[in-house]
Amino acid sequence: MILMQGKGVSRGVASGPIFFFQRPDTTISDAPAADIEAEKARIAAAQEKSVEQLNALADKAREEAGDETAILFETHAMFVEDEDYVDCMMNALEERHCTAEKAVELAGEEFSAMLAAMDDPYMQGRAADIKDVTRRILNNLMGIADGGIDSEEPVILAADDLAPSETLQLDKSKILGFITRGGSGNSHTAILARTMGIPAICGLGDALKEDQGGRMAYIDGETGQVAIEPDEITLSMFQSKLEKQMELKELMETMKGQEDVTLDGRNIMVYCNIGNPGDVPAVVANDGQGIGLFRSEFLYLASSDYPTEEAQFQAYKEVAAAMGGKRVVIRTLDIGADKQVGYFDLQKEENPALGVRAIRICLNRPEVFRTQLRALYRASAYGKVAIMFPMITSVWEVKECKRACQKVMAELEAEGVPYNKETEIGIMIETPASVFVAEELAKEVDFFSVGTNDLTQYTLACDRQANDLGKFFDPHHPAVLRALKIATDAAHKAGIWIGICGELGADLTLLETFLAIGIDELSVSPSSVLPLRAEIRKSIAKTCTLEMLEC
Ligand code: PEP
Ligand code: MG
Repeated sequence: MILMQGKGVSRGVASGPIFFFQRPDTTISDAPAADIEAEKARIAAAQEKSVEQLNALADKAREEAGDETAILFETHAMFVEDEDYVDCMMNALEERHCTAEKAVELAGEEFSAMLAAMDDPYMQGRAADIKDVTRRILNNLMGIADGGIDSEEPVILAADDLAPSETLQLDKSKILGFITRGGSGNSHTAILARTMGIPAICGLGDALKEDQGGRMAYIDGETGQVAIEPDEITLSMFQSKLEKQMELKELMETMKGQEDVTLDGRNIMVYCNIGNPGDVPAVVANDGQGIGLFRSEFLYLASSDYPTEEAQFQAYKEVAAAMGGKRVVIRTLDIGADKQVGYFDLQKEENPALGVRAIRICLNRPEVFRTQLRALYRASAYGKVAIMFPMITSVWEVKECKRACQKVMAELEAEGVPYNKETEIGIMIETPASVFVAEELAKEVDFFSVGTNDLTQYTLACDRQANDLGKFFDPHHPAVLRALKIATDAAHKAGIWIGICGELGADLTLLETFLAIGIDELSVSPSSVLPLRAEIRKSIAKTCTLEMLEC
């Protein structure tokens, strides 16, 4: 048996074989090909495999997610064999005598650029599909497994660390849990693991070795323990935890359909955090009352170029419509710091967490901002969309954001495009500056949502990504809790609601404190909704003063 101790960052127990994440080598050589006919045959084989995969995905989607998603995969299967697109590949082969990979890459670039340049927004939206299809054919040519995991059975995925964009592209149905050498509880990989309801452990360091691949492991995302090929006693301990987990799951089922109300009658809005439309079924399955944070940047991270207005509109509309009139808070682009997107060409910064990130990028690049706001307002006609701006420090930033919104609404009005004029606008409270000017900020917006991950980082001067700050990174610190209280009082004074969408919102040991502070909404990963509801229903909502949040 090998026992390892890391930091549990997403609760739950899982068992399965360890599989090491392979970072695929995707460099495409410019060297000429020896045999063009052989390259043509390679393309044909890769196309055939791509069509098979897409048809299988369409069948699966039809069973699990309905016709709309299935049709998407069927359309992609048609694109693979589209005559003009295939001609582009063959021309590249003949003219440049290049490899199959180069020809497919060139055809993808040429064809998607042509679609993106069209006037018709629908055709523009297809450019992203062609890029996706091109990536699939290339992966098949290069032998890169679909979804990144070359295993028939589900696995415990092991890695040094995973970038948010890498995590996004994984085939989630094949992952039982994550174990990583580095990482931290506040990293976006940990956040995604919690969204997916999958146990995760980080900070295992050098104890996690490549030669452990294929061996049977048991992991506990609460204690941070990993046991490879456990002895009898350890095995029975893990098995009893697995049984308890099943029992708890059954118990939590009884919470579905119940109200989020304390024993003394205070109603709390329990919402969910999501990263993309694919997370909505988990929100519905766990009976979330709404979406308190849709991290829209994951659309940008998952794409190899700026997502078009049309592609964004479709994603936001899908979520808004699927939530059937329940509030969907969509946060505008929050990249920079640990969320790097290559095509933005952001300057390398010494301290990216303090650099040009989030709203600063949007205010510096009005065209990027405008595209997203147009997509958001268009989607507002299909559900209860609310727009939220991240990393606010000053009142002038909010005024500038609101001016950008007004401009977009006027454009849509002039074009006769439907949108909701009453769309709520909110901001994230995640910098100490925003806490200190909360009263002035509250007069400008409809709601506050506290990003405790960044608020803790900036208040305590502790890097949220570092995994060795230990007791210094303390989200329970009275400075953080008092910041929450100051922002809450400011919100209520202005008659607006305030929620928490940072990871702290799911910390059940703080629930009574949040209730006493006066928090109106908690937005948590879908898998945390029912345990939180169970706890709310057992709680009494007292009140507190700033001084009561003691050191
Ligand atoms: C936060 O900072 O708490 C937050 C919710 O935003 P993100 O984790 O995406 O920075
Ligand atoms: Mg944040």
